[in-house]
Amino acid sequence: MTTMLRDVPVTETINDDGQTIWPLVQHDLRNEFGEDTYKSWISKLDCKGCTSASVDFIVPTRFIRDWVLTHFEKKIIKAWQKHNGTVKKINITIAKAKKASATNPEVNGHAMVAEQSDGVDDNYVQKLDKRFTFDTFVAGPSNEFAYAAARAVSETKKVQPGSNPLFLYGGVGLGKTHLMHATAWHIKETNPSRKVVYISAEKFMYQFVKALRTNDIMRFKEQYRSVDVLMVDDIQFICGKDSTQEEFFHTLNALIDNNRQVVISGDRSPSDLQNMEERIKSRLGWGLVADIHNTTYELRLGILQSKVERVGIVVPNQVLEFLASKITSNVRELEGALNKVIAHTSLTRQEITLANTQDILRDLLRSNEKNITIDEVQKKVAERYNLKVSDMYSSKRSRTVARPRQVAMYLAKQLTIYSLAEIGKKFGGKDHTTVMHAIKKVEVLLKTDREFSEDVRLLMKVLQC
Ligand code: ADP
Ligand code: MG
Repeated sequence: MTTMLRDVPVTETINDDGQTIWPLVQHDLRNEFGEDTYKSWISKLDCKGCTSASVDFIVPTRFIRDWVLTHFEKKIIKAWQKHNGTVKKINITIAKAKKASATNPEVNGHAMVAEQSDGVDDNYVQKLDKRFTFDTFVAGPSNEFAYAAARAVSETKKVQPGSNPLFLYGGVGLGKTHLMHATAWHIKETNPSRKVVYISAEKFMYQFVKALRTNDIMRFKEQYRSVDVLMVDDIQFICGKDSTQEEFFHTLNALIDNNRQVVISGDRSPSDLQNMEERIKSRLGWGLVADIHNTTYELRLGILQSKVERVGIVVPNQVLEFLASKITSNVRELEGALNKVIAHTSLTRQEITLANTQDILRDLLRSNEKNITIDEVQKKVAERYNLKVSDMYSSKRSRTVARPRQVAMYLAKQLTIYSLAEIGKKFGGKDHTTVMHAIKKVEVLLKTDREFSEDVRLLMKVLQC
C-alpha cells in the first residue's frame, strides 16, 4: 500500500475541486462559442474535480462525451490553462443512467425549446431570442446584402426559387443568428399561419441521432418536412457527419421541392465547407448566397450607439468611439466589452468615462493588442501574393504590388490598434490619406469581387488564429 501511495506523482494530487476555476472557464467558453453551443454541450459538463495536470468531468450520455471530445477538447484545455497552466488533459466519464433521465428536461433539451412551437414538437425547435429583430439590427456596408436578402425572404409571401435556400455566411459573431431570428420573428408577426422552425445544425444532428436510437426516425422526418420555413444555423457543425448530412440533404430537397423556404447559415461559403458532400454543397449554392464581412469602424460605432439608446444609458461618445476602434474582432466581443463597462461602472457607482473604460478593459485590450502587429500583417500578405515583405513598404505602383499593399493596409486597420497615420508610417512613410484611399478601394472590391473577397477573408482568418 505504502509503495503505491509513493508512486502517485505529485502532480496528480487533487489541488482544487475545480469549483473556483470551472465557472471562470465556463464564462470564457460561453463567450467564445456563443449561447447555443454553450447550452447544447458545455453546460452539460459537470466538473467533478481537477489535479494540476487534468480535469474530470461527468456528462449524461456517451454521445455528448464523444462530441465534446472531438470538437471542444483542445479549447477547454486552453481555456483552463489560462487559470492553471499545468493542466494538459481532460477526462470525461458518463454518468450512470438515472431511471428518470428520459423525462429529465435537461437531457431531452427541453431547456431551450420555444414557447411558440407552431405545432411542431418542442424537441425539434429552438427558442428565438427576443432581442434579435430587424429593428435592432444595424445595417452597413459589410452586411447590407445579407440584411436585404433576409428581409426579402421574410417579406415575400410566395417563395422565390432564386432565393431558396438562402445561405448566409460569415465569421463568428457577425450577426448570422441575429438575422435568422429576425427573419423568423418577422414572418411569425406578419404571417402567423406559416410554420417557422429555427434550429441549430448541432441540435438537428442531436435530435437525428436520438431519433435513430429510439427508432423514432419517421417522426423526426415528419416534423421537419411539415414546416413552411426551416432555418438551420451553423451548418458547418454537420460537416463530416455522414448520416446526418444524408438526412439533412433529403430534408432540404423535400422542402425546396415543395416550395417551402429554407434558410441556412454557415461560417464559410457552401463551396468551402469541408467534409461536406459535393451534392449538398452544390444544392446549398443554388439559391441566394449572401456573405457578411468583418465590420467597419462606422458600423461598430452605429451598433454601439443603437444599443445604448435602446437600453437608455448615457455613454459618452468618446467611449463608444474608443470601443469601436479597439474591439474589432466581432460584434459579440464588442457588445461584451460595452456590457462589461456598463456593469462595472454601475456596480461601483462610477460615471462612465474614457479613463475607467480603459481601466476596466485593460486585459481585454492588451490581449487584442498583442495579438496582431503590422509586421505580421505585412508578412502574411506578402506570403499570400508571393511578394517580398519589402514590397509592402516600397513605392512600386504596379497592380501586382499595389493591390496586395492596399489589402495589407486594410487588414492593418481592421486588425490592429494603429491609427491611419501610424499604419502609413509602417508602409514606407505614406500619409494617412493614402491609407484611407487603400481601405476604401478594398471595401469596394470586397463588395464586387467574390474571389478577392474570399482571399481577404482567409487572410484575416489566418492572422486572427
Ligand atoms: P453569429 O451568429 O454570426 O455568430 P450573432 O448573430 O450571434 O453572430 O451576433 C453576435 C452578437 O452581435 C449578437 O448579440 C447580435 O445581436 C450582435 N450583432 C451582430 N451584428 C449586428 C448588427 N449588425 N446590428 C446589431 N447587432 C448585431
Ligand atoms: Mg450564430
